[in-house]
Amino acid sequence: MSRVHIIGGGLAGLSAAVELAAQAQVTIYEAGPACGGRARSFYDRTLDAVIDNGNHLLLSANELTFRYLDIISARHTITGPDTPIFPFFDLSEHRGWTLHLSRGKIPFWMLPGGRRVPGMKLKELGALWKLVRAKAETTVESCLGEGTLSRKLLAPFAISALNTDLETGSARLLGNIVQKSLARGGHACLPRFPKVGLSESFVDPALDYLKRYHAQIHCSTRVTSLNQDGDGGRITSFETSNGVITVDEGDYVILAVTAPVAQNLLPTLPTPDAFESIANAHFRLPEDITARGIVDQARFVGLVGGVSEWLFLKGHILSVTVSAANRYAKRDSSEMLATIWSEVRRALDPVLPTPLPVAMPPARLLREKRATFAATPEQDKKRPRTRDGHIITGLSNLALAGDWTQTELPSTIEGAIQSGLAAVSAAGFRSPII
Ligand SMILES: Cc1cc2nc3c(=O)[nH]c(=O)nc-3n(C[C@H](O)[C@H](O)[C@H](O)COP(=O)(O)OP(=O)(O)OC[C@H]3O[C@@H](n4cnc5c(N)ncnc54)[C@H](O)[C@@H]3O)c2cc1C
Repeated sequence: MSRVHIIGGGLAGLSAAVELAAQAQVTIYEAGPACGGRARSFYDRTLDAVIDNGNHLLLSANELTFRYLDIISARHTITGPDTPIFPFFDLSEHRGWTLHLSRGKIPFWMLPGGRRVPGMKLKELGALWKLVRAKAETTVESCLGEGTLSRKLLAPFAISALNTDLETGSARLLGNIVQKSLARGGHACLPRFPKVGLSESFVDPALDYLKRYHAQIHCSTRVTSLNQDGDGGRITSFETSNGVITVDEGDYVILAVTAPVAQNLLPTLPTPDAFESIANAHFRLPEDITARGIVDQARFVGLVGGVSEWLFLKGHILSVTVSAANRYAKRDSSEMLATIWSEVRRALDPVLPTPLPVAMPPARLLREKRATFAATPEQDKKRPRTRDGHIITGLSNLALAGDWTQTELPSTIEGAIQSGLAAVSAAGFRSPII
């Protein structure tokens, strides 16, 4: 059986490993103490609870992600409302509303009748058309209009999907998401997230699956260099923090590390080199939070008009996401937490049986400095080029994976999983991505 060495145990590496498990002898080398990369959960002592490094929101449209979850028997670990509902609260107007998409392709939700963004005009929907037809160099801002639809829906959607501000964000990447979700109807837009945590959904079941196929997983093993043969045609070995690994004839290497690490290991490789951070605030309450009505059904609220963007209700933990957070890099963490807590109270108190305490409960602010590459037209151009859907590396036994490779999507779980499958196919194995 051929051997495949997978460097990097994030979701791109795990997606490749799971796809290959029955086809090859797989070994993963992961620098960190555990797999999962930027999508992981861990026990936090301050909160005495398992939290995610950052809240992750999926859509039912993320087909490759759900295929991956089916293979590792983990679809049941994902939850979300049965209908495509998105409760929102405008912090500046102190007003809530729910975007209630129609399940099918016909967008009845756009018609007046309480399901659409309040105050929006039909002609504002032209912005969606501009996004799906956007050219490579077009920015999101140049597609959005002035109206309510942009301010209350498209702008927050764009910032969280791209993790990049509107002025510089790529309209083409956002348009690709619109085409795969909103344009396919509400059934493709069911919001989804892990019931417990990211590792419990995406990582632990994958590792159990891989162990059944006798795959080897080496954590705390950092790859420090790749050695090529004299002609630079193939990888012959690589150095790790635990010794040298020989790559025999017929073996394959999948490099599924972050963009800066890939650039370091392969200095001639073009990679994105500007990044955006994401901040996540987690608050621990003495008991589980029960909200009323639509918020209880959805278990999350989109927030506009403040610092906070998405608020998730997870038992006794309230978690808030702040995207494109480079703009808040200099803001003191305690001040950020205080601001976010006051926004959480304003948004949730109207739907809670008893108001949240004024004093902030135990809290943690996590800032992922390089959460995603900056999804701008310039950075998108720096993603490694593909031929026939495969990334060109110039080395016959090396394939690349990672959300930053050219997936035509911004940095997302779906992109990471897709990239792992593309690498499997580039290595000559069976994969749904050709
Ligand atoms: C806070 C936050 C919120 C997010 N929210 C969402 C969301 O709501 N929806 C969504 O779809 N996506 C979201 N994302 C993006 C998503 O998490 C990523 O796109 C995805 O996890 C990237 O997976 P990856 O495998 O490409 O990269 P990574 O997860 O970065 O994996 C790379 C792996 O390589 C390892 N590695 C690095 N160097 C070496 C080395 N030298 N040797 C061996 N191993 C090495 C790393 O430790 C890491 O495990 C979010 C990301 C963050 C950080």
